[in-house]
Amino acid sequence: MAQRYVRIQTGEGQIYYGLLQLNRAVQILDAPPWLKGQSTDLELAPDQYQLLAPCSPSKIVAVGKNYANHAAEMGTPVPKEPLLFLKPSTTVIATESDIFYPLLSQRVDYEGELALVIGERCVECTPEEAQSKIWGYTIANDVTARDLQAQDGQWTRAKGFDTFCPLGPWIVRELSPGARLQTFVNDRQPPVQSATIDQMVFAPDFLVSYISQVMTLLPGDIILTGTPEGVGAVQIGDRIRVEIEGIGYLENSVNVRK
Ligand code: MG
Repeated sequence: MAQRYVRIQTGEGQIYYGLLQLNRAVQILDAPPWLKGQSTDLELAPDQYQLLAPCSPSKIVAVGKNYANHAAEMGTPVPKEPLLFLKPSTTVIATESDIFYPLLSQRVDYEGELALVIGERCVECTPEEAQSKIWGYTIANDVTARDLQAQDGQWTRAKGFDTFCPLGPWIVRELSPGARLQTFVNDRQPPVQSATIDQMVFAPDFLVSYISQVMTLLPGDIILTGTPEGVGAVQIGDRIRVEIEGIGYLENSVNVRK
């Protein structure tokens, strides 16, 4: 089993990075692991913490239409270069937190995606250098108000609502290139999305290099690598589960904002 890096909050509100043990206890680190965090003597039992999103990014840089079959289902060609957009850091929620359906939208879609976690400051990197800046991998749901995306022509509003970036449940360091991503709605079979990571048009090292020509990537930043074919609408009350082989699964319910 790959090492699983988590971020947690205690009942007293303290936030820590840590290593998840097989018995669900968490070994606490003294800093984020990509900033050379070391194990401490503190270990928390499963009933002493709740999982947060596994990092706290300064920004989330996302890539549109990075799987050919998804570009086709959207009725558009595959971009010649990566198509970038940003999601605000306030979109991030943990596994098991609710996605809030915005009052402003009548069509909200799930988008299961592989997320890259940046470990080191990255400026104008080559793809070779970029590979070493990718500290690990987690799972994301790039939730999108599809009607507002079409209406606005640019994507800030459609992609930027609070809770529109479920992230987690933890980070792993290694991922098989052939790992399969699957999305399930309400546990129904078959999955609504199923693709392998190596079907991406632009690979992770290329994406990080490309983005770093534009903006400095900081430790803990997140890159969303695009969604495969099979996007679809969610309804209030739905549970959306995104799985990636070798990582685990991220599961969130859709709800009205409380
Ligand atoms: Mg997306």
